[in-house]
Order: sequence, then structure tokens, then C-alpha cells
Amino acid sequence: MFLLKSIPKVDKFIENEKFDGLCTPLIVSFTQEVLQNLRENILNNSVDSFSEDELVKRVLQKYEELINPSLKKLINATGVIVHTNLGRSLIDEKTFDKVKTIATSYNNLEYDTAKGKRGERYSHISKVICKLLGCEDVLIVNNNASAVFLILNTFAKKKEVIVSRGELVEIGGSFRVPDVMRDSGAKLIEVGATNKTHLRDYENAINNKTSMLMKVHKSNYSIEGFSSEVEFKELIKLAKENDVIDYYDMGSGHLIDLPYGLDQYEPSVLKYMQENPSLLSFSGDKLLGSVQAGIIVGKKEYIAKLKKNQLLRMLRVDKITLAILEENIKSILLGQIDDIPTLKMLFSSTDELRENALTLQDAIADIAECEIIDTKTVIGGGTTPNRTIPTVALSVKIKNYKQNKMEKLFRQRDIIGRIEDDKFLLDFRTIQKDDIAQIIDAAKEISDV
Ligand SMILES: *Cc1c(COP(=O)(O)O)cnc(C)c1O
Repeated sequence: MFLLKSIPKVDKFIENEKFDGLCTPLIVSFTQEVLQNLRENILNNSVDSFSEDELVKRVLQKYEELINPSLKKLINATGVIVHTNLGRSLIDEKTFDKVKTIATSYNNLEYDTAKGKRGERYSHISKVICKLLGCEDVLIVNNNASAVFLILNTFAKKKEVIVSRGELVEIGGSFRVPDVMRDSGAKLIEVGATNKTHLRDYENAINNKTSMLMKVHKSNYSIEGFSSEVEFKELIKLAKENDVIDYYDMGSGHLIDLPYGLDQYEPSVLKYMQENPSLLSFSGDKLLGSVQAGIIVGKKEYIAKLKKNQLLRMLRVDKITLAILEENIKSILLGQIDDIPTLKMLFSSTDELRENALTLQDAIADIAECEIIDTKTVIGGGTTPNRTIPTVALSVKIKNYKQNKMEKLFRQRDIIGRIEDDKFLLDFRTIQKDDIAQIIDAAKEISDV
């Protein structure tokens, strides 16, 4: 009972000088929480003493936890360029600075300054994308999952969509083609077998309820061996002959030819556009290397119908998205791919990576056992499934710690590496030059504790 009586009073407690300059209502709220907790612990005998200093510390800790940003910078040393868990694609600082004015001022997002009246939100981005891809029109939505949903809902509600069994994919989290299709109101007609689908399978399934022939990028797996799939080119032709829509959910989609011979497996959006498709959609933040968005390109008459669907209002994108995307597409048009970090990382030579690895190795040679390793990595993010690209990593061992401990110690310092062949690796495919100083500091800290 004595202990209960010695619990400080809230109004007195919050006068502690350690709370000076902090937000009083928040301090009051956390104080009430901490004191209530203390009261309960005294009553159930799990506490037999406390100090005021200790209580103040607890309140300050709760306060800091709330005030400090929860979303923070990490160093991606995994080697996976399009890492969905680490935010997928980065935006170059210069690009970000260019679009700052749009976010911080009024602008012509939906205003035509020449005519002095309402303009079109998507007109700005159409200009650059249509120039790059030679398409008739463009629509941008929140992400590619929204694009798929909007397209199915607009054209295939209560109608049939023909898809190959080999392409009914689940792409991490909550995107499964059959489920998305059901929720959009479309009826899925599966054709072919898991490993093989022929053109005649689609042909035989077409009837007067068919609205669309859809192709889906397999994204996170590939079917090897005794397998075949129908090329989109052939689906476009079949769709035209039968007066239905052809649509390819490309998943990642990229706007320039990929290095390391990857283009033979993954043709660019531009290549598909040359076949004159009805509709294509792809992500803005996978291999395109821009912001989260779903990009729909194709025939004007179909894009016009998508724009009339009420759903678009729920899926529409903000000015910041459109402004960054416009800048990134312009960089691609101008051939300035170094302004797009995802592409810059993808196109870096192993010699450049090795140079950065050497810089780090030299800086930590006296505190860590290091070895430069030529190895392979994946692009990630549901792009180029089962294909690898060359990379250079530095294996790092400090104080004889095991690889798992190394991984954890670096992770606790916001540096995410990977383990390969029982070694802890920092992969230079994704480490930015500016990150090296921070990695050196972390290594020193680990060796000092
Ligand atoms: C990644 C992916 C999606 C989802 O795209 P988000 O931009 O992440 O919404 C849809 N379809 C395929 C084939 C994909 O690879």
C-alpha cells in the first residue's frame, strides 16, 4: 500500500525538466499509460520498487518511438535490384528535385492553360509515353494490380476471358489471377495444360460470350522442358479474327532492351507494341524503374472506355506520381538511363562493381576478413524468373562471427546483406556509391563492441 501511495501524480510528474519543449498532451498520455502499468504491477506483486527516473525514461522512450519516423532508409546489399520488400525502385535525387515544385505548388494537373478551362489529368504523361512507345493512348492507375482489375471489370464483367492454365499465377501477397478475375466480375475460361497450351486451345474456347484473350506474365516461375506457350503475337491475330480484345498483363515490363541476353526471354514493351495489340499493362516500379503505378497502353477506343469506368476514380494516381513518371519517361526518351537508378544498377559493369568492392575492402581490411567474390544475382520483383546476372560481392567476417550473426549485426545497422555458401555477402550490384561510408562505419562499430 505504501508503494501505491508513492506513485507520482500526473500533473506533478510531467513538470520534470526532461519533458521541457516536448508536446505536453502526448507526454500526459504516455505518463498515464506508464503509471497505470506501474499500478497494475504493484497490485499483482510483480514490482516491489521503482524510481522516478526510471518512469521518466519509460515515458521518453514511448515518446521517441512515436515521433521518430517508422519508415526509414536501408542499404540494399542483397544484390536484388527490384526488391519488393525494400521498396522496389529508387528515384534519383535530381529527378526528385525537379518534381518538387509540382508537389509544393498549385499546378496544371487538370487545367488547360491555353484554353483557360478544365484539362485532362493523363494528358501530360500520354505525350511522353505515346512518343516513346508509339501507342494511341495511355492510362495510369495506382499499380499494375489495379490495371488488371480495371481492364477485366471494364471489358469482361459477366463475360468470358480465356487464359492459359500455365499462366494462372500467384504473385506474392494477395494477387492471384483466378481470384482477381472472379472479383472483377469476369468469368475465367482456362485452356491448355499446365505445361502446354496451343493456339487451337484458345480457338476452340472462343464463343459469343468471349470478350478477351488474356496473356499473363509468369513473373516468379518458369516452365522448362516439355512445354510450350502461345506467343502474344499469335493471340493478337486470333483476337482480331474473332473480334475480341487481346490483353497482355506484362507484370514488370521494361522500356529498353535488357543486358546479359535477357531480352531473348523478356522482350521490351516496345517490341510488343509493334504487333499492334489492343491493350498492355505493366508496373511503374519494377524494371521501368519509376514510381508505383500501373501503366496501361493501347488503342484509343479501349482506353476511352477504361476512362469512363467509375472505378478509375478509386484507382487514380496523384500529381507526384505523374510528375515523377513523366520525368523518368523523358530520361528514357533522351537515352539518359543513368538518371534511373534501377537501370543504372542493371547496366553497371562488373568492373565498376569490383572497384566499389575494393574501396570497401581496403577501408575495413584491418578489422574484417574480406574476400571479393564473383557470383550471380537475380533482378527480382517478378521480373526475368529463374534468370541470373553476374555480380560482385564482398564476403565480410568480423571477430570470427558466424554468417548468421554477421547478417544480424549488419541488419541491426540498417544494412541488408545476404548469405551464400555459408558466407555473409555484401553485393555491390545494389550498393550505391554513397552507401559505402555508412557500411564502413557499421563495420567499425561491430568490431568495437
Ligand atoms: C507484379 C505483377 C502484378 C502486380 O503489379 P503491381 O504493380 O505490384 O501491382 C500483376 N501481374 C503480374 C504478372 C506481375 O508480375
